[in-house]
Amino acid sequence: MKTQLAIWAGKTAGTASRMIGNGGSTISGIVARKIDVQFLRHLRSNAKEIIYITGTNGKTTTANLIAHLLETSGKTVLANSEGSNMVTGISATIVRNAPFIGFMMNDVAVIEVDEASLPKAILECQPDYLIVTNFFRDQLDRYGELDLLIEKMKDSLKSVDVKLILNADDPFVNRFSNLQTKNIYVGLDKNAGRFQSYTMGESKYCPICQKEFKYTAVHFGQLGHYQCTCGFTRPQTTLSVEKVYQGKKGIRLTVDGADYPTTLKGMYNAYNAILAICACQEMGLNTKEIREGLMLYHKINGRMQDFLIGEDTWKLNLVKNPAGGNVTLSEYLQTNEKKQLIFCLNDYLADGEDISWIWDIDMEIANREEVETFIASGKRAHDAALRMKYAGIPEEKIIILPEMKEAVLYAKKKGYPAYIMATYTCLSPMVTILLKEAEEQKKGDKYLGTFTIPFLSRHPKSVWGQGKYHMPKKTVRMEGNLSSNRRNQKP
Ligand SMILES: [Zn+2]
Repeated sequence: MKTQLAIWAGKTAGTASRMIGNGGSTISGIVARKIDVQFLRHLRSNAKEIIYITGTNGKTTTANLIAHLLETSGKTVLANSEGSNMVTGISATIVRNAPFIGFMMNDVAVIEVDEASLPKAILECQPDYLIVTNFFRDQLDRYGELDLLIEKMKDSLKSVDVKLILNADDPFVNRFSNLQTKNIYVGLDKNAGRFQSYTMGESKYCPICQKEFKYTAVHFGQLGHYQCTCGFTRPQTTLSVEKVYQGKKGIRLTVDGADYPTTLKGMYNAYNAILAICACQEMGLNTKEIREGLMLYHKINGRMQDFLIGEDTWKLNLVKNPAGGNVTLSEYLQTNEKKQLIFCLNDYLADGEDISWIWDIDMEIANREEVETFIASGKRAHDAALRMKYAGIPEEKIIILPEMKEAVLYAKKKGYPAYIMATYTCLSPMVTILLKEAEEQKKGDKYLGTFTIPFLSRHPKSVWGQGKYHMPKKTVRMEGNLSSNRRNQKP
């Protein structure tokens, strides 16, 4: 009865919140938990198999991939959407999924869990599988909190019987290896693909004895084939990516001799893909089902998403920590076509209020001739610009436009592709702006088409003189703005 009451109250709160325009994504979970304290335990009544996915980067993509692959194979799936990966958010997902009376049983629950929330989530509901993607040191680590976090996660797993699917290439994830006996390891073979390397920072040291690792292959950050004299070494993988390369629509993987074309952009997605393939094999999917699902997958908004703006393909990717920033930059710099880089930086709660992590992005690697313009945007545009300046980027290349729409319009006038990095709360408005630009362009093309003057429709800008560049009024040049907002920053 208490449980039913919690569901009804949660549903009512969610509806009320949506009616007053507050979205209501987690409120229903908060209310349900007030009535039924360990509400998450009911996840068991919602799915026959439960998979948790956690880690610093890639958990949303991995979770979405798994849910998609399972669904296209005909299984019913309960999944939480991004932003609701804490216990209240997951509880809200259960409330939403519940019919008026009781619960609805699914084949699989695919639940993304925030790292800090994992111990609580495990205490309330033990999953059948836990996937750990990676752990990247960011600003947290200045206080040694990553190690603490990992220890807490490990403690919560000690007395439970969970099958772990671990990224063997990450020494941090490998710290989970002594917990259970039935671990599955996945990774990338030594010569799986060509990756641009960047600074590893503090992560190249063994977490057990603090000695520097010996690497025979480095893929991304600290991910690769490592070994330490103390015996802490990359484990043998059960399933591995033998080859990964950029295909026409996305990366292509060879796993266990089978070829998997995907729609995923960015070489680093090979990790998310192999974790998803492994999980789906465990759920009984065959190669054909996984292969078809991967080809049909449409990535969620803002994950290496392409937009056709003018005659150019623009790219947008979410960046929320240095590791994510570095892989995004190395993806963006794979071609040497003329381009501009837009960095949209906000500091709301969801972005992380401390933005000192931007100093750990290797912005220096973007200081190249073909990157002709650097636009700093968002609430903390000035900090983004300052980071660019300290990367050695010439000041005349750096433009500060805090309004994202202005940044887009400015870049569009330049007439060559823009590659955009956006923090969490910048992402959705940026997608909206770009979709609108792309949409208006479609309309414009149709309109011009009715004139049947080919050269006009092809180069309308040059004909009408709109291609001329005007400095937007609110543009702030670098001079005189560098001293502001230098809180917590290291030059
Ligand atoms: Zn060691």
